[in-house]
Amino acid sequence: MARKTLVIAESKEGQCRHVSFEAIAAAKQLADGGEVVAVLCGDQVEAFGPILGYYGADRVLIVENEQLKSYTPDGYKQALMQVISSEQPKAIVMGHTAMGKDLSAGLAARLDCGLVSDITDLEIGDKPLFIRPIYSGKAFEKKRINSEMLFVTLRPNNIAALEKDETREVTIEVFDVVVKDLRTIVKDIVKKTTTGVDLSEAKVIVSGGRGVKNAEGFKPLQELADVLGGAVGASRAACDAGYCDYSLQIGQTGKVVTPDLYIACGISGAIQHLAGMSNSKVIVAINKDPEANIFNIADYGIVGDLFEVVPRLTQHFKEV
Ligand code: FAD
Repeated sequence: MARKTLVIAESKEGQCRHVSFEAIAAAKQLADGGEVVAVLCGDQVEAFGPILGYYGADRVLIVENEQLKSYTPDGYKQALMQVISSEQPKAIVMGHTAMGKDLSAGLAARLDCGLVSDITDLEIGDKPLFIRPIYSGKAFEKKRINSEMLFVTLRPNNIAALEKDETREVTIEVFDVVVKDLRTIVKDIVKKTTTGVDLSEAKVIVSGGRGVKNAEGFKPLQELADVLGGAVGASRAACDAGYCDYSLQIGQTGKVVTPDLYIACGISGAIQHLAGMSNSKVIVAINKDPEANIFNIADYGIVGDLFEVVPRLTQHFKEV
């Protein structure tokens, strides 16, 4: 059954977020032949219009307003309520990002319709089924939404984006909105220095635990991540010990990641850590204890000292 589907796209630091392209691929399936419309809110985001089309959107709506320069719940909800009321989509898809989590719940509540969050897959039919991990990734449930309009958020790195095709014809429209009486205004954003690759969207993550021993011990991990074009993550024990920032924490109380490759260095494999990374496509564990639990879920295990193994891997990948 064809259903018009809206994708709420996101840009960050001068780039369209990759999960937005994945959301377009999911929306294509969900639309089942219906139109896929991508909407991007912000200030000076018009340049991103074509790329959303190259990744499969049939039409792109650019919502430019200086009040939407930074995400605020009331500003974005006001703007998107106007888009939704004009477009009348049957389904609305976005990334399961900080913005997507907040926005989807708020909009679904305002419109009194269903929301299924953090999906990793979907099965299409008259009533689509959404698949999402539960119990910290130990099981998957299939959900069906019965409301007329439905919201879906998508866990990054699970549904592959379509091949980028720059020959696709894209219709780009400017959609004017009225945004007023904002209760929140972002005056300034103070950023932490990061390596550039967003942990939640990284295809490769090199993660360190208590076995890394100190902040200095993270340097070889960063070098390996740089060579592989990835990001560095950490266990909570490493964050608690002050070896690295809490923004790197992966697990039940940290970030949930699904990279193509997760390299766990000096991490024992506590259940709370596994909750954040066990759905990674390939897991490599480096640990000097052959009995470490991480080896039970690893695809490849290296029993050894990470300070010997990691530099050798870096050297090897530099040469290939
Ligand atoms: P350890 O368990 O101490 O393991 C260190 C490992 O390093 C050992 O296996 C050791 O053999 C190995 N090692 C040491 N030296 C070397 C070396 N030179 N070379 C190779 N290997 C070496 N944890 C998280 O990670 N994320 C969470 O979100 C999280 N949330 C939690 C929520 C709650 C409510 C609770 C109670 C706990 C949570 N934890 C979380 C903590 C979790 O239970 C573990 O304590 C933590 O994951 C352990 O981190 P670790 O594996 O780095 O340290």
